[in-house]
Amino acid sequence: MSTKKTSQSEALFERSQRSIPGGVNSPVRAFKAVGRSPLFIKKAQGAWITDADGNSYIDYVGSWGPMILGHAHSAVIEAIREAAGAGTSYGAPTELEALIAEEIIAAVESIEKVRLVSSGTEAVMTAIRLARGFTGRDLIVKFEGCYHGHSDGLLVKAGSGLATLGTPDSAGIPADVARNTLVLPYNDPESLAKAFAEKGGDIACIIVEPIAGNMGCVPPQPEFLRAMRDLTTKHGSLLIFDEVITGFRVAYGGAQELLGIKPDLTCLGKIIGGGLPAAAVGGRADIMERLAPLGAVYQAGTLSGNPLAVTAGLTTLRLLKELNPYAELEQRAAKLEQGLRDAAGEVGVPATTNRVGSMLTAFFAEVPIVDWPTAKKSNTDQYAAFFRAMLDQGIYLAPSQFECAFVSYAHTEEIIEKTIKAAHAALREITA
Ligand SMILES: *Cc1c(COP(=O)(O)O)cnc(C)c1O
Repeated sequence: MSTKKTSQSEALFERSQRSIPGGVNSPVRAFKAVGRSPLFIKKAQGAWITDADGNSYIDYVGSWGPMILGHAHSAVIEAIREAAGAGTSYGAPTELEALIAEEIIAAVESIEKVRLVSSGTEAVMTAIRLARGFTGRDLIVKFEGCYHGHSDGLLVKAGSGLATLGTPDSAGIPADVARNTLVLPYNDPESLAKAFAEKGGDIACIIVEPIAGNMGCVPPQPEFLRAMRDLTTKHGSLLIFDEVITGFRVAYGGAQELLGIKPDLTCLGKIIGGGLPAAAVGGRADIMERLAPLGAVYQAGTLSGNPLAVTAGLTTLRLLKELNPYAELEQRAAKLEQGLRDAAGEVGVPATTNRVGSMLTAFFAEVPIVDWPTAKKSNTDQYAAFFRAMLDQGIYLAPSQFECAFVSYAHTEEIIEKTIKAAHAALREITA
């Protein structure tokens, strides 16, 4: 049991379960993987998040990625306040939408035109439909361990055997839909080449997290990236980078800037909403112009380009450009990574850390983590114990081993040091 008072959170969880399935509006929030009930959050500021009982924690979830400037950044909040005074939605175009589109196009090299939507799931759905409409093909390729939102065709797992067509990974997904998704291992250029050799002419696109964040942080191997670009080009398929996490996170221009690979389409989300619901799909103009009203690929949204969401996003992007925090984020996250390794080393707990810029995961595993099968070798019971002990130490980590910790610009050197100290204490406690 927690050493902190959590009676308000527990009461709210009880109450919410009566009206909301599982008491939460997104499953990972339920804390099931870490064997305790969730904290209900009352407010957040900078690197800190405060629960309903008044406990404050250093937060490494950051709303799962958007809060790269820290919570409730004064300039972002001020801009949202001002925008709200002018009305919250019109269902008609605004100058703001052109401004954020121009900002995104200037930042991300492969994007020539961009359409705004309200969630990463929607951005991916649109990118996939666009790829199918553009190529006239149905098959899509995704990789095991990558997450692309909860739409039917992407909630699919590998069938038995390599390069077999997928099977549904959720009830309610027609087998006929899942069969159009080919699920391949991450970081495995050979199986990718084999799939294209067999089915290349039927493949509309590859969709990939160019730096995986949803099996914990797993960087791509250069040969894997190169194979994706070469094979799609050779077979007339499109390469879609799902940069919903990595966009404006690992570099201002996203993973594609860092890795030097140009996709045909890019999905953005999380940071571009600055904590409000905004996301986008962008890419080559000749592909993007297939979208309605210019082209035959239909896509729409009542709240797409919502003025409050765009204001929060645009303000966040402009601040990121002005502050250029990436070198500092790198430094602080590297310090955290080293601190976590040292803490694990001190108590003899096997740990493997993966990090790209300000996204990192410490896996309780002895092997290098390069894909989903290796990630799964992690000791998730040990992670759960570590998570709970860290919470007691005042550190709020992701409630699952297979997620990233996100360092924000509000995580000062001092906050990182505090976190490392807490990790030493937590690991001593769980190994005592
Ligand atoms: C979060 C996420 C999504 C889904 O975005 P939502 O806004 O939750 O729908 C898609 N792709 C990746 C890589 C993500 O991390």
